[in-house]
Amino acid sequence: MKSIAVLTSGGDAPGMNAAIRAVTRYALVNGVEVYGIRRGYCGLIEDEFVELQLSSVANLIQRGGTTLLTARSEEFRTPEGRKKAATNLKKRDIDGLVVIGGDGSFRGAQKLSEEHKVKVVGVPGTIDNDIYGTEATIGFDTAINTALEAIDRIRDTASAHERTFIVEVMGRDCGEIALYVGVGGGAEVISIPEKPTSVLEMAEAVRYSLKRGKLGSLIVVSEAGKPGHSYELAKKLEAEVKSPVRVVVLGHIQRGGTPTARDRAIASALGIGSVRRLIAGRSDLMVGIKGDLVVDTPLSEVVSKKKEIRLDYYEMAQILSK
Ligand code: ADP
Repeated sequence: MKSIAVLTSGGDAPGMNAAIRAVTRYALVNGVEVYGIRRGYCGLIEDEFVELQLSSVANLIQRGGTTLLTARSEEFRTPEGRKKAATNLKKRDIDGLVVIGGDGSFRGAQKLSEEHKVKVVGVPGTIDNDIYGTEATIGFDTAINTALEAIDRIRDTASAHERTFIVEVMGRDCGEIALYVGVGGGAEVISIPEKPTSVLEMAEAVRYSLKRGKLGSLIVVSEAGKPGHSYELAKKLEAEVKSPVRVVVLGHIQRGGTPTARDRAIASALGIGSVRRLIAGRSDLMVGIKGDLVVDTPLSEVVSKKKEIRLDYYEMAQILSK
């Protein structure tokens, strides 16, 4: 393999830069040229390539966001868009592409591979941890720690004022963020897309807390594709418990920030893993983390299977909130 390219696509996640650094350095020390593509698939179509050197990725491992920038591209969803993308790769003799992103980005990568025989390897980069084939995605650990710090602060106020707070965290179809910060923050209730909690169940939990003499209750909910839905939920809950319910929507503060040690480490391992596979001539797979190991899953499985949530963690949280 003479040259490869790397891009970040979809939502940004802390640790993407660490992955770009690992891809670049590992390729270069193995004699493979590396191009960075700016703005994800938009830049691939618009020909925004920049050749990367060892020094291009200096002082990057600790930075959140993505130095290559990220974007969403409608044009890449069309065969014409992907043809332009493939032409830009081929004119530079680029044989392999590392796509750092989520399952949408992997769907696009799969099509590029099918239609134009470009070798592609996916690296899971999203704060949601909603990707089949990996226990962790790059950015998840940082996001849950950021959310947890906010929740600890909110708990202080909830206790001081003996109030109920609903904290809404990110997560569209997958409740991983809510589950882990709910467990870590000792939430009285966790409501996730896989196990939604009704208003009546929430009200019962709040009343139980009061009876137990707890100084306030914390309810952690996933945004579940409806950012801000917690305001409506709070009104319904107030009507049931007959006391004020406050809402905090954490929103985009969960996305940025300095990556944790774990996110930097897995980003480094996955970045290296992706280049090793391309050098070995492999394609159409995603590298993921299982235990301490880097493992492969075919992209066809990654995009068609749903990640199972840890229901044992959910049950544990229910027991411990009593
Ligand atoms: P994520 O990768 O975080 O899931 P998106 O779902 O927004 O983010 O996908 C990122 C980009 O991947 C899209 O803007 C689009 O260019 C490309 N993409 C997503 N789904 C497809 C698809 N089914 N076919 C082709 N390209 C796709």
